[in-house]
Amino acid sequence: MSQHILLRHRDIPHLDRLEVYQQHGGFEAFRKAVTSLQPTEVIQVVKDSGLRGRGGAGFPTGLKWSFCPNTIWPHYVVANADESEPGTFKDREIMESNPFQFLEGLMIAAFAIQANTAYIYLRGEYWHIGKLLDQKIAELEAAGLLGEGLFGTNYSLRLYTHMGAGAYICGEETALLESLEGKLGQPRLRPPFPAVAGLYARPTVINNVETLANVPPIIQNGAAWYRDFGTDKSPGVKIFSLSGHVNRPGNYELPLGTTFRELIYNYGGGIPEGRNIKAIMSAGASSTLIMADERALDTPMDYESLVGLGASLGSASVIVLDETVNMAWLAQKTTHFFKHESCGKCTPCREGTYWMTHILDRIVAGKAAEADVELLQAVAGQMQGKCLCALGEFSILPVLSSIQKFRSDYLEKVATPSLEVQS
Ligand code: NAD
Repeated sequence: MSQHILLRHRDIPHLDRLEVYQQHGGFEAFRKAVTSLQPTEVIQVVKDSGLRGRGGAGFPTGLKWSFCPNTIWPHYVVANADESEPGTFKDREIMESNPFQFLEGLMIAAFAIQANTAYIYLRGEYWHIGKLLDQKIAELEAAGLLGEGLFGTNYSLRLYTHMGAGAYICGEETALLESLEGKLGQPRLRPPFPAVAGLYARPTVINNVETLANVPPIIQNGAAWYRDFGTDKSPGVKIFSLSGHVNRPGNYELPLGTTFRELIYNYGGGIPEGRNIKAIMSAGASSTLIMADERALDTPMDYESLVGLGASLGSASVIVLDETVNMAWLAQKTTHFFKHESCGKCTPCREGTYWMTHILDRIVAGKAAEADVELLQAVAGQMQGKCLCALGEFSILPVLSSIQKFRSDYLEKVATPSLEVQS
């Protein structure tokens, strides 16, 4: 896009400075919300805009905000900045280069649910961003944009950063809350969802960084303006983190509904050395592998269309795999990641990821029989639908889809088909 909505720092130099951000309309949306809108009106605008959660699930943002019961107080907002999905690096760019737009979105969300305290939970590896945001928060307090009695009203707000310690599972919203409360970062059973019983069992809205960065322009320009971008059911823009076998990897802010072909070939410059594309992962390691045929390449990247490919958009971390990649090898890599990051709380995930790595190691080392592929499929199948949270459920997606769609890659690795299955 020629003009960015989220990655505005690419058009406006020094947008990370408060005075520059304010010169370009910064904090006008927050001021407008606090001084001239009712919280319910703010929620309605976000609902009407059709904004959906950019962390991956695509849950309607305004609807989530409206779930907070007005009978239980206090309310909290938590920004999920634990960006950890392999291949996802969009929130990092927003926070590093356009931090005030994200903070303003968080502040509007807090006003909308009448929270007086909001937290930013950052992955441990983003410690430098935590320090940067602390500085920005101090600047906002000094400028009277955060604190007591904002703009002469009786609304008060404080923001705090909180560093994670390097666990992928803490991006799962309930594990994040446990960690924020000072406990071991392991998921809670849902329901209740955090919007009803979240931080300290109080109503808590948890939104991804990119989701929140969309909010100020929506409040400023209106829901109809936002709906000019994207598709009817997936309105707006999305940052696609493009990586893997492409000539120009990076973050691309594009309307939802842009096709894979446009992203990979027009923006990403195609596949190095003119090789053929073989598969696409749309949601980082948490992806069903998409066979990169003509139909897939022409599929719009939005929350609905990918379902037709048996996949999902997720956090839109598009990893491109060319013809040199053996998909059994790929499944081995993703499975090792999930095994390492499994919190161990539920048995299907803890044991399942462990056994899948063992079987995949044997397959990739050329020490397996064809029956091991069936065994792998059976282990993954037994995990399906039985894990406590999305980590375990997602761990099996690359495994099952690679067996289903790229079985010949497994057979290539199976050295001695006559071998008995080893225990
Ligand atoms: P989910 O669909 O269960 O929930 C999405 C959001 O909607 C949550 O905030 C949840 O509380 C809320 N919600 C859903 N139903 C609700 C209800 N009935 N009442 C109130 N609130 C409700 O998805 P999830 O398990 O939270 O997240 C999965 C997604 O996370 C996947 O799409 C995956 O791609 C993504 N993900 C992203 C990263 C990253 O680094 N960005 C990492 C791992 C996973």
